[in-house]
Amino acid sequence: MDVTVKNVRKEFGDFPALHDVSLDIRSGELIALLGPSGSGKTTLLRLIAGLDFPTEGAIYFGEDDASLKSVQERNIGFVFQHYALFRHMTVLDNVGFGLKVRKGRNRPAKPDIEKRARDLLEFVQLRGLEKRYPNQLSGGQRQRVALARALAIEPKVLLLDEPFGALDAQVRKELRRWLREVHESTGHTTVFVTHDQEEALELADRVVVMSQGRIEQVGKPDEVYDRPNSPTVFSFIGESSKLPVSINRGQVYFADRPLGLDAQGSADGEAELFFRPHDIEIVEDAGVAIVGIVAASRRTAGTRQVELEVGGAKERVEIEIPVDHPATAQTRIAFRPKRWSVFPSR
Ligand code: ADP
Ligand code: MG
Repeated sequence: MDVTVKNVRKEFGDFPALHDVSLDIRSGELIALLGPSGSGKTTLLRLIAGLDFPTEGAIYFGEDDASLKSVQERNIGFVFQHYALFRHMTVLDNVGFGLKVRKGRNRPAKPDIEKRARDLLEFVQLRGLEKRYPNQLSGGQRQRVALARALAIEPKVLLLDEPFGALDAQVRKELRRWLREVHESTGHTTVFVTHDQEEALELADRVVVMSQGRIEQVGKPDEVYDRPNSPTVFSFIGESSKLPVSINRGQVYFADRPLGLDAQGSADGEAELFFRPHDIEIVEDAGVAIVGIVAASRRTAGTRQVELEVGGAKERVEIEIPVDHPATAQTRIAFRPKRWSVFPSR
């Protein structure tokens, strides 16, 4: 099911939680809404679910305006971080619940509900736990049951709001891979909310980066990582260093020194240069480079992260250099970013 979010604005009182948000979610894709806490991810998900309504704009399921459909008619599967299972029901009954509460002809016969619930537990690799109660499960197992319950109704759209947020890092990683496999075998249209960039980049077909109630960028994981379209996305996703620079006739200058970076097409004036610490090359010719003094350095697994003071110690940037580089405190290093962006100062 394609889902189209069209010029949606959502206000709580007079606080705008979403400003003019538009998004096309394609049938069968796994899309991640990624952004810091408070950026509007849950609000957008609740609007898609029909648990709340837009102040302005509309949401379409296929060609149909979803505002004319009830929550039941939208046939949505949910998994929320704290959407607890029913404590007094066994795992099997939890999974069958959505089918059991259906009305009239839409409700499958009891043995069919049980069969479907068993098949789903098998599918989420929890066979043998049918008779347990939620408090007899680990956190990761509970979220798998929650997913099985969401899938039981054969949802047109699956909505997951930080489903692994409360689990420890190792379990999160496992469930993330597992969810990707589940998605590939069921092919549901899935919207996954997270504030964890690693989770979003690893899991999603496309990532929607949100900030302060707006969509900053939509793209494949590689696109948002390699070609962030704004300072916000650059700072939020991955490691980044930035320097205040100026642009003059397509050349980038830092403290009146040309950096040898060709910025044809960028407007003249003050700007910010962004680059990733690992996307740099150390150069011999300090005349056309960024030059800094090592202020701090720390060894990570395969490389050395170095903090450099540049421009007479006014600015600090981080770069990554080979472990065998002889730099120590106070060493002078000249480098040039290999991949970078400039954005006009705001
Ligand atoms: P996220 O899920 O990205 O952390 P939310 O969508 O929950 O963000 O919230 C976005 C903004 O809207 C926040 O500033 C939050 O305080 C506000 N907000 C969310 N729900 C309500 C509500 N029911 N009433 C008032 N403000 C709300
Ligand atoms: Mg949220």
